Amino acid sequence: MTAFGDPVDAVIIGAGVVGCALARRFSLEGASVVVLERAPDILSGASKANSAILHTGFDAPPGSVELQCMQAGYDEYMQIRNGFNLPILETGAMVVAWDDSEEARLPELLDQALLNGVADALLLSRAEVLAREPALGSHVRAALLVPREVIIDPWSAPLAYATQAKAMGARFQFNAGLLSARFDGDLWHLETPTGTLTARSVINSAGIQGDSVERMLLGEAQFEIRPRKGQFVVFDKAAAKHLRTILLPVPTARTKGVVLTRTIFGNLLVGPTAEEQEERERPDVTRPELDMLIAKAVELVPALAQAQVTAVYAGLRPASEEKPYRVHSLPEKGYFCAGGIRSTGLTAALGIARHVHGLWAQSRTAGGERSAAPPTFLLPNLAEHLPRDWQTPGHDGIVCHCEMVTGREIEAALGSPLPPGDFGGLRRRTRCAMGRCQGFNCLARLTSLTEGRLSVPIAPEVDP
Ligand SMILES: Cc1cc2nc3c(=O)[nH]c(=O)nc-3n(C[C@H](O)[C@H](O)[C@H](O)COP(=O)(O)OP(=O)(O)OC[C@H]3O[C@@H](n4cnc5c(N)ncnc54)[C@H](O)[C@@H]3O)c2cc1C
Repeated sequence: MTAFGDPVDAVIIGAGVVGCALARRFSLEGASVVVLERAPDILSGASKANSAILHTGFDAPPGSVELQCMQAGYDEYMQIRNGFNLPILETGAMVVAWDDSEEARLPELLDQALLNGVADALLLSRAEVLAREPALGSHVRAALLVPREVIIDPWSAPLAYATQAKAMGARFQFNAGLLSARFDGDLWHLETPTGTLTARSVINSAGIQGDSVERMLLGEAQFEIRPRKGQFVVFDKAAAKHLRTILLPVPTARTKGVVLTRTIFGNLLVGPTAEEQEERERPDVTRPELDMLIAKAVELVPALAQAQVTAVYAGLRPASEEKPYRVHSLPEKGYFCAGGIRSTGLTAALGIARHVHGLWAQSRTAGGERSAAPPTFLLPNLAEHLPRDWQTPGHDGIVCHCEMVTGREIEAALGSPLPPGDFGGLRRRTRCAMGRCQGFNCLARLTSLTEGRLSVPIAPEVDP
């Protein structure tokens, strides 16, 4: 086994959106950081498949860590987004009531929004809802409007956090899942497939494996992950003209429910389901649930009966047996956990990172040196409503015609400071093969452009 050198301040386990935000925050505060990720790239777990809504926290449990982290995360995203060229689609959201009982719940949701500091939330009458969204089913009754709920690019944001962390010295180890760990009373010794690491503290942001990683580190876990699958249907871009606002259902205690929303990439999305399952690694899509989602979308916006489907996908929420986030620490062991980050982690990640860093800093006598002028850089824009690379000369040809991805974009991703480790990572960085043909037309070209440049090649080698 190779030793990676001197002990680092913190090893972060898992490079989902939370791990990427933690790496950035700890690096900004002057800590030395290594991120261990078992997959070939960042965003290989829950963070690759969500609804991409930046929430205001209007319906979060009042006074909760989740609410605090969501609102801190939302604010920080808005502060840093221009510096990184991170897009938003200013849609607002409506919690829509479709019957008497749902309509009766809207005033209490408004009260909760106001209690949570979302002062611009307001009730809309049926006429006001239809004036805003004329394509809605005529049985709509009323809505709660939350103007500051927006859509973001779910992948470029965490990529920006991770890239900035890397530029400040954070090391990312891919294909390096934690195998075992030992605390000697002072330092952690962490075994990975690529060697042994020593660290003063360990931060568990392993998502769906959060409880098993905690057990590996401490011998037992304070929480149990109960994977909750969410399936989605993506409609063609032509469908997006039917809707401006994010449509949310009146929530239940268990789930935010099925959402109908535009995506930053110009499509229309319906989902997710909320299905408990034992299996942690494979979020399969299933025909009855996809049919249910399409039927739901058509019920809300009847014109979608004519819409074509581009793609379907599913994600697994790292939910636990309790609703609250499972954020806790054992400072005497240098152990910190951001676990059970169920369904709001894209929004809350920057806030969670601040919160966990605060717990970590309290437990230490000496602090790191804060980065006065952190490095910043512009991420390529993939949002449909903003200028894309293909519109600028010198783009080296279109590789993916469905999503208009250029040769220059593919090359920039492959040559970037944190290049993709696999095809999924390349797709998330560029949108290649994400469109109507799902790679049928561009896969051969992509295979040759990426040859020898992905740690997991597009076409795996077959032994003769
Ligand atoms: C269907 C769905 C819809 C959602 N919609 C929204 C939304 O609209 N807005 C919002 O704010 N949030 C949303 N979320 C929630 C958000 O996506 C999650 O809260 C967030 O992605 C959790 O991030 P994470 O970093 O904690 O976990 P993950 O992204 O799962 O990251 C954990 C990482 O740890 C790695 N790992 C696991 N075990 C090990 C090990 N032993 N060693 C090393 N690495 C390991 C995994 O490979 C993974 O990359 C949604 C989630 C889902 C599933």
